[in-house]
Amino acid sequence: MCRHAAWLGAPRALASLIHEPEHGLLRQSYAPRLQRYGTVNADGYGMGWYDSAHPEPVRYRRAVPAWTDANLPALARVARSHCLLAAVRSATVGMPVEETATAPFTDGRWLLSHNGRVSRDAVGDLAGDLPDGAESSCDSAWLAAAVFLRLRAGLPLGDALAGVVAHAGAKDPGARLNLLACDGASLAATVWGDTLFLRHDDGSGAGGGSGGGVLVASEPLDGRPGWQAVPERSLLLVSSGGVHVQPI
Ligand code: GLN
Repeated sequence: MCRHAAWLGAPRALASLIHEPEHGLLRQSYAPRLQRYGTVNADGYGMGWYDSAHPEPVRYRRAVPAWTDANLPALARVARSHCLLAAVRSATVGMPVEETATAPFTDGRWLLSHNGRVSRDAVGDLAGDLPDGAESSCDSAWLAAAVFLRLRAGLPLGDALAGVVAHAGAKDPGARLNLLACDGASLAATVWGDTLFLRHDDGSGAGGGSGGGVLVASEPLDGRPGWQAVPERSLLLVSSGGVHVQPI
């Protein structure tokens, strides 16, 4: 299982997800604490963020361990946004290790990451020509393509995620389908086979911010109180209107 994390709230740096917290994604790339499948996340990493001048996010990803990229700490310190998403990857057996298989995937204003695995047969019928629409043969890229297709058709973010997860989960009972996505104004995440945590952050103390917001992560980024587990088989929605959890 890979690990992913996101922030929606007052602008803060990507380092607040990766380098600054004691158990941020950098640490989780070599020493995750709650990972159920795989031991390290060394097959690549990626991050995405929004700039107020453009609706499309900036996306940066590499197919190398996060700790080997000497440019990353400085970049993550200055890349600031009200909406951030980052991930570190442990490739599923049989999946390619390449940049195009690395989250976050993006299309238009959306970013998406996947923790888990799924049979590509369970996703293939979600769209006519998914292999052509996906940028990699990786299962996560297929899931991303299926979600993006629904988003481009006008479905709300949460509905697109929950629909793809319910369909793929029914076709592949062994699938693990924790998705995390954002559009610059809201976050949505599914819990299906792996952990997900949420924390309301007032911006004080660790975390590098000077204003409040919501952190979402596969596992807590630090030892502060307030991390809540999101229940299995649910959809989490975070926006300026608040936080909602509903069953899938
Ligand atoms: N199956 C995806 C991949 O191979 C995600 C892997 C994971 O969550 N560890 O990249």
